[in-house]
Amino acid sequence: MTRLLIIGPPGSGKGTQAEQIARHFSIPAVSTGDIFRTNVSQQTPLGKEASKYLDDGAYVPDHLTNALVKERLLDPDVQGGFLLDGYPRTALQVAELDDMLASLGHRLDAVIELRAPDAELERRMLQRAKEQGRKDDTVDVFRRRLDLYHRETHELVAVYARRGLVVSVDGSGEPGVITELAIAAVVKFLTT
Ligand code: ADP
Repeated sequence: MTRLLIIGPPGSGKGTQAEQIARHFSIPAVSTGDIFRTNVSQQTPLGKEASKYLDDGAYVPDHLTNALVKERLLDPDVQGGFLLDGYPRTALQVAELDDMLASLGHRLDAVIELRAPDAELERRMLQRAKEQGRKDDTVDVFRRRLDLYHRETHELVAVYARRGLVVSVDGSGEPGVITELAIAAVVKFLTT
C-alpha cells in the first residue's frame, strides 16, 4: 500500500511523471488540476466556479479544493494507495490532508519533489501550449502560476522534509529517464 504526493512547479512535468510513477506502483494518480479541467469542460457547478481561477493562474479556494479531495479519497480505487498530483498546494491544504488521512487511519509514505530551473519550465510550457492548448499556458498566466508556486507551494517541501518524507528528483532532462530516476529513488526510500 503506497501513498505518495508529487510536488513540483508548473511545467516540471509533474503530471506526466505522476502517471508513470503511479503505474509502477499500481496505484491511481489523482490530479486536482485534471479534475478541475474535466469539471470546467463539462460545465459542472464546480467547473463554473473553478474556471475563473484556472484561467487567471490563481489557486482555486481551499474550501472547494479540500472538499473535492476529501470526496475523492473516499472512492474505493484509492483505498489501496494513491499518488496525489497537485495537492496539497497551500499550508491549509496540508493541514486538511493530515486530518483526512488521520480520519481514514492512513499516512503518507513519501513526498516526491520534482525540481527544474525556471527557464526550463517556461520553455516546456511554451511547447505544451502548442501541443495541448491549455488556456492557462500563456506567458503571463504561466508566470503568475510559477510565482504562486514559489510563494505558497514550494515551502510545503520543507514542511514534509521536517517529517522525513521528501525524495527530491531532478526534473530536467528526458521524461523517460526522469521516470526511472524517480521510481528508483522512491523504491530506495521506501525500502530503507
Ligand atoms: P500546473 O502545476 O502545471 O500549474 P495543474 O494541472 O496541477 O498544473 O493545476 C492547474 C490549475 O488547477 C492550477 O493553476 C490551479 O488553478 C488549479 N489547482 C490544481 N490543484 C490545486 C490545488 N491543490 N489548490 C488550488 N488550486 C489548484
